[in-house]
Amino acid sequence: MTDPEALTMPASDAGTEAWSAWLTTRTTDQLRTVRDLVTRLKSDRPRGASDVLDRWNRINLALSNAAAAASLFQQVHPDAAIREQAEQAQIEVSNLVTDLSLDREIYDLIVVDDAEARSSGLDDEAERVRNFALRDFRRAGVDREPEIRDRIRAINERMTELGQEFERNVRDDTTTVRLRPEQLDGLPQDWVDAHPVGDDGLVAVSMDYPDVIPMLQFATDREARVAVHTAFANRAWPANDAVLVELLDLRQELSTMLGYDGWPAYDAEVKMIETGAAIGSFIDKISKAAEASALRDRDILIDRIRRDRPDVEVLDPADSTHYLEVLRRERHDVDAQDVRRYFSFERVRQGLLDVTGRLFGLTYTPVDIPTWHEDVASYDVSLGERSLGRIHLDLHPRANKYNHAAQFTLTDGVLGHQPPEGVLVCNFSRGLMEHDDVVTLFHEFGHLLHHVLGGDQQWARFAGVATEWDFVEAPSQLLEEWAWDHRVLAGFAVDDDGRTIPDDLVARMRDADDFAKGLQARTQMFYAAISYRFHQEPPADGDALLAVSRALQAEYSMLTPLDTHFHAAFGHLVGYTSGYYTYMWSLVIAKDLFSAFDRDDLFAPEVAGRYRERILEQGGRKDAADLVEDFLGRPFGFDSFADWLAS
Ligand SMILES: [Zn+2]
Repeated sequence: MTDPEALTMPASDAGTEAWSAWLTTRTTDQLRTVRDLVTRLKSDRPRGASDVLDRWNRINLALSNAAAAASLFQQVHPDAAIREQAEQAQIEVSNLVTDLSLDREIYDLIVVDDAEARSSGLDDEAERVRNFALRDFRRAGVDREPEIRDRIRAINERMTELGQEFERNVRDDTTTVRLRPEQLDGLPQDWVDAHPVGDDGLVAVSMDYPDVIPMLQFATDREARVAVHTAFANRAWPANDAVLVELLDLRQELSTMLGYDGWPAYDAEVKMIETGAAIGSFIDKISKAAEASALRDRDILIDRIRRDRPDVEVLDPADSTHYLEVLRRERHDVDAQDVRRYFSFERVRQGLLDVTGRLFGLTYTPVDIPTWHEDVASYDVSLGERSLGRIHLDLHPRANKYNHAAQFTLTDGVLGHQPPEGVLVCNFSRGLMEHDDVVTLFHEFGHLLHHVLGGDQQWARFAGVATEWDFVEAPSQLLEEWAWDHRVLAGFAVDDDGRTIPDDLVARMRDADDFAKGLQARTQMFYAAISYRFHQEPPADGDALLAVSRALQAEYSMLTPLDTHFHAAFGHLVGYTSGYYTYMWSLVIAKDLFSAFDRDDLFAPEVAGRYRERILEQGGRKDAADLVEDFLGRPFGFDSFADWLAS
């Protein structure tokens, strides 16, 4: 059998018609394949448990293809008509997923073979596929009365629409803040040059990260920072209040209809954390562990702010980012603008490939192929002689593009069918990068590697990042550590005069980063608490959303809010639902994983190889807790994280 091949896409300038036809083959046609396979599964009864599962696997494969293309292209395609088509396709995908999950006939085919499954000797993986399928069916409500199933179907359809509307409202928010030229004082010169003064004598600042983050970090004018932060944290408001209230309500209705004590209980059942109540406990455990250092961080910040504004009593978000930056300069002698000169985008991208290539024994070969945009850089990935899959890096901002940083799937890797293809979608400047951006790039690349390395699966269900959702971030957070190591950075962090980033500067950057980790942990727990509590007790209207959000901010974060509605653009409420805690949960595990590496030699091949084989390459073949234990030689614990937080 020859190796299955990567996809062939139209050129970025091929036009709407060509792209539309291609997207149809990746979505509508795949969904037709699903329907055909389902019809045949019912008419031409399968012969035994393994035949059912093989056919179920092909159904899942076609479904995942349609879902991946729909999700990616609505976020990245430069042509509005194609984005629209992808959005429509995603609705069709979701509706078909719902129909299948409520299809009693298929469920019965998988269920009645229970005794036979045992006797037919399914291997562990096949048995796991079968158990997951049955669990998913039950969680979907397949065994409920017909009128309940009808209501579930309607709820699912509406939830998909609302999720899309929420994200569209954020993505299409075109708010700009107009500032007087002198309000740009403190910003890097290349940033100022890229923001010319308009006819009205003012400078327009967009809500894209490369505009907002430097403004909050560097602008010395507080009024300017307040304006930018306020506009940023009011994106999609008030439009998303009603969307959110309805979405939270429907999730509540669905979960209680299925017999759960609210959405968090339903959602947590398939996570490492297992129960809804455990989410609340985990948030409080982390908050407590971070309390002392967070209070210390806040007091230091307020003291510093008082040197500029003696009457200040509280810390707010328009000051926190900026004064953290000031303290990095003054206390740790780290000047982010000085640091930037070592991180030119092109060198960082190549450095990332060199570092991860060396660490995991991978080769990245650039491929000159057509994609959706000329910014996209594509590479074939291989491990020794073995070809693994393909990656696409779409790393710069443009109008109407997804404006966070994330990894998307283009295809799941399934043996004999298709190699894995993954996409990084980020919004980095084309020139110099902040070190934070470098860390983000390593982080997102960790997801991409997981997708590609885990893409050698017999079962579509286990391809790539097919693990519990509260483990998903751990491999990415682990890879961030490499972006903080001088010997790693020295390979590519070189300025235009050929000077390598100094060892002592990296040491000071690490100290500076460590400084605010308590404060940051508390901010993360504020986000986690919003995500959990909004779902545990859905607020009734926009005012209630704001009241809950403010109360949680006071309880968990150390910051005093400005007049903003952060929740209206908190996109993770759509995707992560009640599970934003997963970032911190994964971080606890990531710190434990990192404890197995030799800090004096992050490229030591044995441990990296073991990590690649026992965790990344496994995809979803085992429970995450078991994968971690296979790698560490013991169950994961809280100690490494607690030590890090206290240090
Ligand atoms: Zn991530």
